Amino acid sequence: MKNYKETINLLKTSFSMYGNLKEKEPKLLKEWDENKLYDVIRSSQIRKKTFILHDGPPYANGDVHIGHAVNKILKDVLIRSKRMNGFDSPFVLGWDCHGLPIENQVEKNKGKLFNKHHFFEFRKECRKYALYQVERQKSDFKRMGILTNWNRFYMTMEPNLESHSIRTLGKIIKNRHLTRKRKPVYWCIQCQSALAEAELEYLQKCSLSLYVAFKSLNSLDICRRFQKSSPSCLPIYAIIWTTTPWTIPANRAIGVNRDFTYLLVESNNFVFIVAEGLLKSFAKVMNVSKLKILSSCHGSMLESSMFSNPITDFKVPIVLSDHVHLNEGTGLVHIAPGHGLEDYDIGMKYKLEVSNIIDKRGRFVNHVHPILDKLSIFKSDEQITKILEEKNCFFISKNIFHKYPFCWRHNVPLIFRSTTQWFISMHKNHLREKILSKIDSISWYPKWGRERMEEMVQKRPDWCISRQRSWGTPIPIFIHKENNKMHPDTLSFISDISKKVKCFGGEYWWNVSIDEFLKNGDSKKYFKEKDVLDVWFDSGSINYSSINDDFKDYIPDVYLEGSDQYRGWFMSSLILSVAVSNDVPCKTIITHGFVVDKNGKKMSKSIGNVISPKEIINEFGADILRLWVTSSDYSKEINISKEILSGIVDHYRKIRNTIRFLLSNIKDFNIKTDGICFTNMIALDQRILMITKRFQKKIIRYYENYNFHKVINALLTFCSIEMSSEYLNIVKDRQYMNLSNSLSRRSGQTAFFHILSALVRWISPILPFTSYEVWKFLAEDLIKNNLFSDQYYVYLQEISENNVVISMENWDLVFLVKKEVNKVIERKRREKIVNHSMESNVVLYVDSKIAGVLQVLEKELKFLFLVSSVKIMDVENSKCCAMKADLTDLHGLKVEVSRSNGKKCNRCWYYFNIFEGREKKHKFDDLCHRCVLNLLKKEEIRKFV
Ligand SMILES: [Zn+2]
Ligand SMILES: [Zn+2]
Repeated sequence: MKNYKETINLLKTSFSMYGNLKEKEPKLLKEWDENKLYDVIRSSQIRKKTFILHDGPPYANGDVHIGHAVNKILKDVLIRSKRMNGFDSPFVLGWDCHGLPIENQVEKNKGKLFNKHHFFEFRKECRKYALYQVERQKSDFKRMGILTNWNRFYMTMEPNLESHSIRTLGKIIKNRHLTRKRKPVYWCIQCQSALAEAELEYLQKCSLSLYVAFKSLNSLDICRRFQKSSPSCLPIYAIIWTTTPWTIPANRAIGVNRDFTYLLVESNNFVFIVAEGLLKSFAKVMNVSKLKILSSCHGSMLESSMFSNPITDFKVPIVLSDHVHLNEGTGLVHIAPGHGLEDYDIGMKYKLEVSNIIDKRGRFVNHVHPILDKLSIFKSDEQITKILEEKNCFFISKNIFHKYPFCWRHNVPLIFRSTTQWFISMHKNHLREKILSKIDSISWYPKWGRERMEEMVQKRPDWCISRQRSWGTPIPIFIHKENNKMHPDTLSFISDISKKVKCFGGEYWWNVSIDEFLKNGDSKKYFKEKDVLDVWFDSGSINYSSINDDFKDYIPDVYLEGSDQYRGWFMSSLILSVAVSNDVPCKTIITHGFVVDKNGKKMSKSIGNVISPKEIINEFGADILRLWVTSSDYSKEINISKEILSGIVDHYRKIRNTIRFLLSNIKDFNIKTDGICFTNMIALDQRILMITKRFQKKIIRYYENYNFHKVINALLTFCSIEMSSEYLNIVKDRQYMNLSNSLSRRSGQTAFFHILSALVRWISPILPFTSYEVWKFLAEDLIKNNLFSDQYYVYLQEISENNVVISMENWDLVFLVKKEVNKVIERKRREKIVNHSMESNVVLYVDSKIAGVLQVLEKELKFLFLVSSVKIMDVENSKCCAMKADLTDLHGLKVEVSRSNGKKCNRCWYYFNIFEGREKKHKFDDLCHRCVLNLLKKEEIRKFV
């Protein structure tokens, strides 16, 4: 048998089957660096419209985890897709650098005392530590293919940004949103600091719950209120229920609901007050059966009757509170304004004392009660119970499980502790209403983000922006020692100080003497605020124009962060933006879910389901990591597991192999000299280009709507169905067998080139490494003509269905017929009538409609169906023959498949009839007619397939 391999157009490409990404990618990164790729791209886009994504800064501490990777990759994909769509879209990365975790780390290394005694040295160490962390995280992000200028990024600790935060504070003061007050705040005894909303999480906690009796100071008065004529000689008690026994010494009132009915009840040897609705459950807890109801009255009747705190003997009134409910307890609520937010609000209303009884480490301060001095509140249940027992004021205790706020860093229960702090007030100057009115000016993806934000703004308490720590932006305010007010010239001081901070950093404030600002004895009356700003104030105040001078007053187009940022960065940015300029911080907010394992469980070291981005990159490469990120519907939780990743690798291969096939088949092709114009192309090539055009439209729309996972779905459908099974499988024969310079082959190559040119742009936002590798095969000048500054392939926009040989509608019918033919062949193969599709002779019995479409292609149909011969018969005129044929699912089509009697061509493997088209014998008797033609360098004419 002769070997015709040499006569077949089998070309090899150096674009490998398996990407070997983990080795190729670092080389590309180096190349991009050396070519200053990001700057080249930016400068090529100078006159384009801008699209700005403002990067919410991650915290500069610890390794980059999979959640960081999802966030930064989504941003990078979004920005790249915007460039592809004709925008100038810069990417400036940021880092959040102040705050407790870094302070803790440095304290760990240097000792707590170092912080206390060497303030400036300590801050230097913090700065150094943060910078080191930023560099580490930067190199991780860089490896993921994030494209930016790595020398241009922002850090909240930079002097100019500290200065910006201080100026923002000035504007907040000017707009009358700032207050200073003593108020309970969430406090972590490990952090020894107030915590932001975003720093706490609710977990189940076991607490001791107590029923405690407060003795009435005037039984006569109580009886009068209950309209009871003959006072009992027994003492009267108000019974409260609490799950935080340690707050009882700070009790300043008892709350009742004005609308509830309260009962005066006599038990064995005392009289107590309880809400009617809770009497039964209370009696059950008390385990008493004999109760005598003496009288009843409305809650409103009880206001300002006086009782005695059983631990401190403090005289406390009954107050009216809307927060009293009938879910549990007694309907009388213990109120400690220094240790609860609702309690504080009632305290303000009734002018109660905001008493704080614990220090920053969570221990009782002295003089609360002799046996409580310096005792940790978390170890005080026993002592409190003991005191109450001694006073006969303790009823019953039991352990309950309930949701309780914990510090997300230390995992310890938080307490409400009242301290004097700076707050951005939500009600002063109508800030809450102003914010709510702006929510609709932002577009939210997914849509539920809007409701979520609205609900959080409605509920949000005043924002405590001061922290009693060292590592942060200073709050440069002089406070009056007696009346606690800020100096009348504060705004002009802040303006001066912010200028100095821009040059010398926040340290300037701690260095400067009060006398430099305050003259004429004022310096003796005021003191310098030592607190620093909450880190959420830092990041929230840094808007895009503060990091990029070219974009003054530009409202960024997009914020894109994880769903935890509704109470974090989205919230702080929104509050500050409205408080400062009564405007939104950005036009669109996109949220992504958290990464969970395949069972929906959070990543955790103890479960052992943690997968780090580094692991994925080291095993598969960054493009696989990016493909996983974009394949997920990020509006929900994002799943990851070994199995999911191996599925992603398969998807990658599908895309890669499609590209590889195209590349290897255009190796001897130059679009300028060999390209065929659309109208002269083979019909099937026209068809695939029309389909490519349709896909491009779809993919652009998906990118525009930030539906990246739909881009991937479309890409995969395109590669495996439209391309692989409905085009390449068919066209392969023509490309391999026909004369290398024939019109039919050049037509196919032209289509390949255009498809590749479109495909490489579609994938480039998601797979920058792979697309760049492809680009090197396509582009003549990589620097001048760079893929990443290019736009979607315009050629596709120029072609039109008006110029096609066969309409898309007719093609659809042809492919329906092909599908039915394949089914019959498959059946015949199972019945062993044919061994291979190419061995089949096919007769189609068709109605006139199908015939009209198929007859045009008749001679070339065998190449479409991949069979030896195709004959078209009219089903009406050949009824008896059609009897033998197989019915199909397509109306008006019957298919008959038989085995060819011909010979298998040694070159193309189609079966041929030995006498077909042959005038005389020649040396190629093992080849079919078209192969002979090709070998004799005579062009095989194709028009359709
Ligand atoms: Zn903590
Ligand atoms: Zn042949």
